[in-house]
This record gives sequence, structure tokens and C-alpha cells, in this order.
Amino acid sequence: MFFVSKSRKFQFFGELITSIPNDDNKIALTFDDGPTENTAAILGKLNELEIKATFFVCGAGIDARPEDAKAIVQAGHDLGSHSYSHQRMILKSYTFYKEEVDRTNELVRASGYEGEIFFRPPYGKKLFVLPYYLNQVDMTTVMWSIEPETILGNDASPDEIAQYVIDNVESGSIILLHPMYNAENVLAALDILIPKLQEQGYTFCTVSDLYDEYR
Ligand SMILES: [Zn+2]
Repeated sequence: MFFVSKSRKFQFFGELITSIPNDDNKIALTFDDGPTENTAAILGKLNELEIKATFFVCGAGIDARPEDAKAIVQAGHDLGSHSYSHQRMILKSYTFYKEEVDRTNELVRASGYEGEIFFRPPYGKKLFVLPYYLNQVDMTTVMWSIEPETILGNDASPDEIAQYVIDNVESGSIILLHPMYNAENVLAALDILIPKLQEQGYTFCTVSDLYDEYR
């Protein structure tokens, strides 16, 4: 069971995406957790680099910082669900999952987001009951194909993070980063990797852009 619940490519119900290969070298940056006090700095950096990204935030984070969630939407980024409470999504009741999903969807809508709400489970865990419910409400689970901080460790330098992404990127890659906690490091990495990948012909877009165009 441990191996099944950790698998990023397989689940029993509902659609699960780890990347969306395409002929246009489009890729997506995704940022998990929050919103936190770092939201403004992240939005400023994306604005400066003229990039749209996808934020998977927690309902509890929106409750705590509703203006930050609204600012993400107003800047034109995707706002996705990362559950309400960021607990491990295994061995819980149907009602627990339903509340985690529904409550967060309501908060995402209250933030002004009108697009499809994608779901990213905390810790990448899913198993039976959560995918069953996501399928019932027709929500797609979006995982990732590149996770530099997980592989390199939390003290990786901006150069190391950027180089890891550059070395592993391919068309349709979905890149996971955590600037809500480690803003300085991750934003410095974006300064390196975004121009570099654009030079190589990659275009950054949101998960919904990738999904709408290529799925
Ligand atoms: Zn998380």
C-alpha cells in the first residue's frame, strides 16, 4: 500500500496528470502551499519576468490571507486547491475528504477564480477515497514531473535549483517549487532558469493553458 500511495503516475479513480507533453515546448511552473507573507514578492517577480504560473494553495491559507489569494487571481495566475488543512490525505473518512475539497473550492471561487480548479494532494498522497471523491466532483489531480527542492534538499542554492530544472526539463514539464516558504532562494532561481529556458525555446504557461490546449 505504501508504494501505491506514493506513486505519482497511478491512481484508482479520476484523472491524474504529471506532465502534459506538447509540440510547442510549453511548460508550467507550479507553487505549492500558502498563501503566506511572501505572496507579494512572488507576484512581483512573476510580473517582472512576464510569466503566468499556477498556485496550489490551502483553504486555511486563503482563510488567513484572503487578499493574497485575490491578488494571485487578479494577476492572471491559476489558483488551484492543495486541500484545506494540508493533512496527509490517507486513511481518512469520505466526509473528511469531501469537506477538505468542497471548502477549499468555495474559497478559491470567493477569491474570484473562474477557471477549472485543479487539485494537488498534500505530500503527493492520494489512495482510494480521495480520488474517488475528486472523480465524483470531476476534478483533475495535477502532480509534477520536476521537483528540485525534494531531490536537492532544502539548502540547495538558486544556481543548483535552476540547473536541476534546466537539466531535466522537457516539453510539457510541470515544475514544483515552494517559494511561499523559501522565497528568496526560489525567486533567485527563477531569475536564472526562466530566461535560460526561454532562450532554449520554452514558453511558460499555466496548467489550465496546457490542459485546455493539449488534453
Ligand atoms: Zn504542500
